[in-house]
Amino acid sequence: MEKIAMGGAEIINWTQTIAWEAGDRHLEATCPACGDTGAKPVRLAVRSPWPPHPEQPLVTCAACGTAFHPTMGQPPYEAVLDPLVDVYLEQNAGIDVMAELLAAVDPSGIRRYIEIGCGFGFLLDYARVAFGWDARGFDPGYSARFGREALGVDIQHIYLNSAADAGSEPFDLALCAEVIEHVFEPEKLLVILRDSLTANGTLLLTTPSASGIRPDTQPGTLLSLLCPGYHYALYSPKGMEALLRRVGFKSVSVIDRGHTLRVAASVGDELRADLARPFDRRSYHDYLRTRIGTTDPVSPLGVGYRYRLLKELTNAGQFEAARAAQAQVAAVIRQRWNIDLSDPAALHAALSEAPLPASIEAYHEHYPFCLGSVLYFSGILAWLADGRRDIAQSWFRAATLAGERMRATLHIIGADDEESEELMWRARCYVSHLRVWSEPAKAAEDIRQLANAPSPLLGERVPARILEDAQRKIFVDLVNLGQYAAADGLAGPVEAALPSGGEALASLAFALGILTLNHRKAPRAAAAFFGRAHQACLDLPDRETAPVVQSLLWPALYHQGQSLANAGLRQEAGEALRGLLKPAAGLPSVPLDLRARTELLVRTQRLPV
Ligand SMILES: [Zn+2]
Repeated sequence: MEKIAMGGAEIINWTQTIAWEAGDRHLEATCPACGDTGAKPVRLAVRSPWPPHPEQPLVTCAACGTAFHPTMGQPPYEAVLDPLVDVYLEQNAGIDVMAELLAAVDPSGIRRYIEIGCGFGFLLDYARVAFGWDARGFDPGYSARFGREALGVDIQHIYLNSAADAGSEPFDLALCAEVIEHVFEPEKLLVILRDSLTANGTLLLTTPSASGIRPDTQPGTLLSLLCPGYHYALYSPKGMEALLRRVGFKSVSVIDRGHTLRVAASVGDELRADLARPFDRRSYHDYLRTRIGTTDPVSPLGVGYRYRLLKELTNAGQFEAARAAQAQVAAVIRQRWNIDLSDPAALHAALSEAPLPASIEAYHEHYPFCLGSVLYFSGILAWLADGRRDIAQSWFRAATLAGERMRATLHIIGADDEESEELMWRARCYVSHLRVWSEPAKAAEDIRQLANAPSPLLGERVPARILEDAQRKIFVDLVNLGQYAAADGLAGPVEAALPSGGEALASLAFALGILTLNHRKAPRAAAAFFGRAHQACLDLPDRETAPVVQSLLWPALYHQGQSLANAGLRQEAGEALRGLLKPAAGLPSVPLDLRARTELLVRTQRLPV
């Protein structure tokens, strides 16, 4: 994230400058990935962030699928300072996402590590602290200067013009993360990287994926991918592989993680990297703890490390440690900004009344950039760790507003933050979800209304994926609580978007079965839902261990039999219950009480089993 303010009084709602095209306009351009020449269809146009904001078309290469901006010029990187460094440190530097990249290699096989476009240098620092590598970075940018100071890492402030500039001794591992999309001559950069590696050295590379350029991608995410004025090319897996092979990388592995391509390549025949190797997050936790102990608590770096530890421990379910991390970050936010996080309702009221800041700097005088995210994870803790739904709801309300205010501030200069967008919408859905226990009818009504309610500051709509997930969870909770009338109001959308399999199908079909049996009094239709729930459990690849199998496999079959019996279908009921009384080999055992209930049902209804 190295977008820079160019001033100018005009405030543009950037996501609304993206205009999709039908593909009948073409531009002559050579594909930076596969080298294909000739006319290419314009996929969309977006305005440049540089005054006077000319239209910037994005074309797609028919040969390899790579998308690029043929009319884009070099952005004026060195003309201005980067006001987004603090946003990066406090909120959106994905240190864990970066650290995860290194999981692809065996750290014991690496001694010398080079990183091109290392930015602030978090990964150099992590490589040094976690693995003891000799780590060197190259980056001419402003944040690199700042990072060298703050982290004490080896960063050279030059553009590499040849491998010799990197030093005389070759490197075992090179990383080039989120750089190549900015580069107008990618071959030149890759040749330098090739030449700086040992014969069996590994290149790891990440870049935004062309596959994310779709009309149904969330606006904030799409804007981050396009990053108008900065991202020249968005590579497809095919285009990336063609480019690497052309410059002499013999072994290439590319995976498309939706919005990001992950790439490993070697000039040798053997690729000493596995992009599927899992990331051990404990080394990242240890890194955060080490750095919390060594950085100024009220600096953006100190706030950022503390926020990340809260997020990490909450996500890991280590609630006791997460509470301590929450207290730490709350204390520094109070110290630096005089914000009291212990009263989220008052904070929400204050945020509602405060005027929108006129600049990023003005925002930061009053709030940390991670405020919305800290509130979000505080809400998760209050809900899941403490069972305090009322307080959690207050946290989520404040998180929604704080996250959107932060994003609205970034929009002033055409920047955005994907994670804040995601958390803001999830928090908004949780506000509805938490009503399930106190005002069930309102919970259902609220989540139904959300689909048509634009967000207050940016006028955005809830992403369909997040809304669907929330509707499903609210529906299941309402059914479990016996709030059938409220649940029935959500059954339509839930049933319409029923997944084709998996744990979600098992729990949704079971809940639909209960609702259909107890509320709609339609036992035959209920039996069909229970049957689907049972089958979905059987079809799970991890059915030995999946919790949903433990809780629903046999109850679903029992209810199927009971429903069929209620519908007068005694033959079918007996057939279903036989599966429960004489379970097939290899299935989990039937709970004793359920077996007893089944035997009772068979006896009293005289079912043929
Ligand atoms: Zn191409």
